[in-house]
Amino acid sequence: MNFRDTTNESYSFHTLINISLQSKKYTMKVTTLIFNQFQENTYIISDNTKECIIIDPGCYQDFERTELTDFIKTKNLKPVKLINTHCHIDHVLGNKFVSEQWDLELYAHKEDLPLLTNAGAVAKMYGFEKYEGSPYPKHFLEEGDTLKFGASELEIIFAPGHAPGHICLLSKKEGFIIAGDVLFNGSIGRTDLPGGDYDTLIESIKTKLLPLDENTIVYCGHGPSTSIGKEKMSNPFLV
Ligand SMILES: [Zn+2]
Ligand SMILES: [Zn+2]
Repeated sequence: MNFRDTTNESYSFHTLINISLQSKKYTMKVTTLIFNQFQENTYIISDNTKECIIIDPGCYQDFERTELTDFIKTKNLKPVKLINTHCHIDHVLGNKFVSEQWDLELYAHKEDLPLLTNAGAVAKMYGFEKYEGSPYPKHFLEEGDTLKFGASELEIIFAPGHAPGHICLLSKKEGFIIAGDVLFNGSIGRTDLPGGDYDTLIESIKTKLLPLDENTIVYCGHGPSTSIGKEKMSNPFLV
């Protein structure tokens, strides 16, 4: 027979459109703002509901805080959660500001509490004289927890070594991970700071991050993003 039945084709075509529209509706958007003298990446993750979470607010100077509030205002976002991947000073400088500005509770891993408690002393050491302290975490995150906002959710991965209570936030569905200072583009987090341990860090990366899909985008705490596949192939600490 020399004819083509296009019914199935058109059906699958429409199905495809529906699926892509549906997944588009809930697509998360990751925005990076770079703050403070450590060039720390602050992440804002939002979805189509306009709710967003703020991860590691490193904003310290007034102009940095204005940049953050302007971004939230311009995009008409509603921050609902404040999260620290870990509590090194460069990642918590804006904790108090952000929690007060949008009335947010802090989420972190309990093993990083000593770092948060000690952040004031560390701030002085690095010349952050205006550091105002941080609220105490209202919620402790652990391996396997699900963090929800808007219509989205992120999986919590416990990845110690750079800091004792370091967590990463993963979306398998959308193919990205917020890796904090665990894994960088061509490097790994330092392990010479209090609570750091080289073997633990390598173990975390090899057992928790490298098994992820190779196309997973890695958003790092400093510097440009990368992918699991690229780091697996070429990271000098891992090959
Ligand atoms: Zn760090
Ligand atoms: Zn850092």
